[in-house]
Formats: sequence, C-alpha cells, structure tokens
Amino acid sequence: MTLAEAQARDAADPLRAYRDAFHIPEGVIYLDGNSLGPLPRTTPAALADMAERQWGDRLIRSWNEGWIEAPRRVGAKIARLIGAAEDEVIVADSTSVNLFKLLVAALRHATPRGTILSETGNFPTDLHIAEGAVGCVPGARLHAVARDQLATSLDSETALLMLTHVHYKTSECFDMLAWSAKARENGALTLWDLSHSVGAIPIDLNGAGADMAVGCGYKYLNGGPGAPAFLYVSKRLQDTLASPLSGWMGHAAPFGFADAYAPAPGMTRWLAGTPPMLGMAALEAGLDIWRDVDQQQVAEKSAALFDTLAAVGAAAGLDCVSPADPAKRGSHISFRHPDAYAICQALIDRRVIGDFRDPDILRFGLTPLYLGFADVVRAGEILGEIVSSGAYRDPAYQARNAVT
Ligand SMILES: *Cc1c(COP(=O)(O)O)cnc(C)c1O
Repeated sequence: MTLAEAQARDAADPLRAYRDAFHIPEGVIYLDGNSLGPLPRTTPAALADMAERQWGDRLIRSWNEGWIEAPRRVGAKIARLIGAAEDEVIVADSTSVNLFKLLVAALRHATPRGTILSETGNFPTDLHIAEGAVGCVPGARLHAVARDQLATSLDSETALLMLTHVHYKTSECFDMLAWSAKARENGALTLWDLSHSVGAIPIDLNGAGADMAVGCGYKYLNGGPGAPAFLYVSKRLQDTLASPLSGWMGHAAPFGFADAYAPAPGMTRWLAGTPPMLGMAALEAGLDIWRDVDQQQVAEKSAALFDTLAAVGAAAGLDCVSPADPAKRGSHISFRHPDAYAICQALIDRRVIGDFRDPDILRFGLTPLYLGFADVVRAGEILGEIVSSGAYRDPAYQARNAVT
C-alpha cells in the first residue's frame, strides 16, 4: 500500500472519528496499545473530577453517590464487549489476583477432579498463579502441555481448562466455542484469559458456553497503567463458586460487621477489599469510548491493518509468526528476528513504538480506534529502512531495559 492509498483508506474509514478520543503524542506511531493503551482525552478530566469533587468535596459521602456500585457498573460496560450479561461481570483487583480467586474456587468445586490443564508458553502470570493455586488445594496439580497436545490431555482428572484466548506473543486465537464444548464433553470447566482479546476481537462468552473468564483493563480498554481488571462467572455457577479471598466487600452485608463470612449473591462475592476508585475512574472513562463502537468494523479494520504490516514485514525479510487467517488471531502481529530487541529499540528511537518479547519476537499492536493506515505504512517504511540498512546494529540499541 502506498502512502496515498493509505491516506485514501483513512479518509473513508468509518472508525476515523475515534482517533480524536485519544491523546497520541505528536510524531509518535503507537503500536503498543495491546500492552498499555494510550490516554483517552476524557480521562484527565474524569480523574480531576474524582480527585477534586468526588474525593475532595464529597468526601465519604461519595460511597453512596456511585462509588460502591462502581465494580458492578463498570463490569456491566465490559459485559457488552464480551458477550456476557451485565450481572455476570465485575471489576476487581488485577488479572493475576482474579485468576487466583477463580482457580482456587473452581478446583474446590470440581474435586475429586484436580487438574488444571493449560498451555506451555501461556502468559507467565497465568502459569505462575496456577502453580500457586494448586498449592492451596489438596490433590490439585497443574498440567501444562504444548498447544497440539491439549485435546488429548483432557481427561477424567481435568477439573478445568485454563486458556488465554489470544496468545500474547504469536497472536494465535483459540476457537472459544469449540474448546468450551470439548471441555464440557469431558466434564471440565473452562477459564478464559481475555487480556489480549477484549477490545481487540469480538467475543461471545455466553454463546460459547464459557464458564469463567478474567481480563485486563489497561490494554485495549485504555484504563491506564495498573487499571483494575475484571472477572466473569457464568450465571450457571454464580451460586456455587466462592472466592478464597473472602474479604468484607464480598460479604452479603459488609456493613453488618458480622464476625462470620457469608458470601454476597451474584458477582459481588468476588470483591475482596475496597475498590480502588482512582483507577476505577480512569477505567470507566476508557470504557465509555467503547459504548457505540461497532466491533465488526474493528475486526475488519484490524485485519486490513494486519495485511498492510504483514506485507511490509515480508518485504523486509521478517518471519511473521502470527496466523494469516484473521479468524485465528487477535489484533497484534509478531515477527521473529534474531535481533528483534535491537530493531525494536531502533524503532522507538524513531518514535515508532512497538515492543519486544523474549527471545526474538518483535510485536506490534494494531488498534483500529486510533491507528490509521497511513500510520502503519509509515511505520512499515521505517521498519524496512532499519532492517535493510542494518541501523539496528548500533551498540546503543543492545542495552536491555527492565521492561521490554
Ligand atoms: C497482560 C496480561 C495479564 C496481566 O496480568 P496483571 O495481573 O495485570 O499483571 C495477564 N494475563 C495475560 C494473558 C495478559 O496478557
């Protein structure tokens, strides 16, 4: 695609107006919205209102003026994006903590079955948290196998199948409907990590018959660094599962101040402590952008942006590791190159921001709400120049930062 063609596509893009909803620094081409979504223009005012009016002026009265409802209210806004009912989603804690709560609850429920089946190379925290969770439930164990071994590893011991919907490195996507059915036939529950798929591709948890899910607020949902995360429990299981982090905000009557714990009905039981309202305000502002977004348009544009960058990568001799079929991937594209880290640093130096994933993956988030075809074409030109000129060999690009 030439720059002129890209500009014409941008002019005809039905999602073009959403670009103005975000603050993208002048001259920056941001291809890392799958890791930290950019700042929505409405967020600073929402944060100021939270600080100055809600906290500053209204003080503790704010708990009864919208704060105490926030985890459910914001959860309902996420529900629309993931094919869940409004009362099947709640915002709480981090993705890691939510995973722990659901894994322990599901293991306790599924006994005598005790195996969590998952994929080797899953996002690290998912496997780490699963390791911790099985240590809390007698007889439980984690069985992680290669993707192509998952189907044959589902057996009568499998308590639950824990999968990350879209793989953080390769962008490969599991067929949620097919895997949920397979797990159910085997008598196992399903737990989906939607961190790399919510806001990236259309999701239908109810349609797929998914049992549980977690997901992240600071990636495609643009909720800000360390934004609160969310969890979903199908109505079928809501009265059955109970959180191991039995804190007072998940109590049926937190202000009854009883000694004994009694879980709240519905999703509220998944709260542990007091909701982080400053982060909640930013997450809600980010989510409000999504209110009228047509997810089909997002998926179509994502596929077209992918093809544009895939063509550039192929011309530069980069090895694309993401599936060519749009139905089989999320909304990022990854290339393998032995000098991926240095190439990434050279790109950042030229204000094209993607990221690197150990050991050799160069990863670019394709976020249709604020990324245009001209951005991707320009980024592709710069990438091509860096690779063909060998500019990335500059020793300055070799030094490793703590966060890649
Ligand atoms: C980003 C991400 C997380 C993040 O977990 P935190 O608890 O927010 O650090 C978890 N799982 C997956 C698959 C992710 O992509």
